Amino acid sequence: KRQELQALMGAESVSLDGVHVELAANIGSPADAEAAKAKGAEGVGLFRTEFLYMGRDTLPSEDEQYEAYVSVAKTFGPNAPVVIRTMDIGGDKELPILDLPKEDNPFLGYRAIRISLDRHDLFKTQLRAVLRASAYGNLKVMFPMIATLAEWRAAKAVVEQCKDELRAEGVAFNEAIECGIMIEIPAAALLADRFASEVDFFSIGTNDLTQYTFAADRMNEKLTALNDPLQPAVLHLIERVIKAARAEGKWVGMCGEMAGQPHAVPLLLGLGLQEFSMSAGSVLQARALIRKLDQSRMAQLAAEALELESPEAIRAFVEERVPEIR
Ligand code: PEP
Ligand code: MG
Repeated sequence: KRQELQALMGAESVSLDGVHVELAANIGSPADAEAAKAKGAEGVGLFRTEFLYMGRDTLPSEDEQYEAYVSVAKTFGPNAPVVIRTMDIGGDKELPILDLPKEDNPFLGYRAIRISLDRHDLFKTQLRAVLRASAYGNLKVMFPMIATLAEWRAAKAVVEQCKDELRAEGVAFNEAIECGIMIEIPAAALLADRFASEVDFFSIGTNDLTQYTFAADRMNEKLTALNDPLQPAVLHLIERVIKAARAEGKWVGMCGEMAGQPHAVPLLLGLGLQEFSMSAGSVLQARALIRKLDQSRMAQLAAEALELESPEAIRAFVEERVPEIR
């Protein structure tokens, strides 16, 4: 089995009927990038940059971040997509140096883009670093926890401001760098069609999307049944987001845990997901599975699964109809 998977290292991620997808990795550091590449990842769908900020006494400087982003870009080469998510501090990820007031509900609090839009000093340092590094690879910028169009537009405006500054300074960067958003708050999923006309891409963050859809803390072990991305309510939101992106000709990926789950992959392929970003250890297994599936058959499967009433029913249905997941 292990040898079979190893043989897929350089193989294409393509369905039986010729639909290509990208299988990328979620990483938290340049060292993770090396490991992900060695495990067959075609790119990075989520660089969780908050790890550059955590467990230290000072904030990472622009140059230090630039080095980290260039390193990841170089690991994957000039063409492979590398999605850099701006820092997602808050929620479960604390950052003592910012000295933020303690909150009763950190997952519903001052976190991620909400901090970045309030602290342009931090945000611009990070964006300048990403832009400078974009001269060395196919880097993309992604904003976490976007809930409103106004937040997206404000974040995009700061990118434009950083570009203007770098241009004036004569510093090289990719003028055409793509900017996208995570869809991980139901408010954004519901208005996905409006976002789709403005962004370059979506990446669906099912970990938070599920938690916020069910008002169920993702860290609470008593709530694991609700924190299940195969809940029909979540599947319906995912369908909506993928349709909205594709209607506007924008690409759509997923970087939540769901993207690498065997029961979910056939459904996501059927719904038209184009990029699957997961723990690097799941990439070869996902590639093996996708190569055995027919996308048009999975589209039919997904349509039927959306009519079912529980995650259990959906799992049983996928197992019955797609024996290849075993
Ligand atoms: C998510 O919410 O699904 C996601 C990928 O981001 P994180 O797990 O870092 O919150
Ligand atoms: Mg998240």
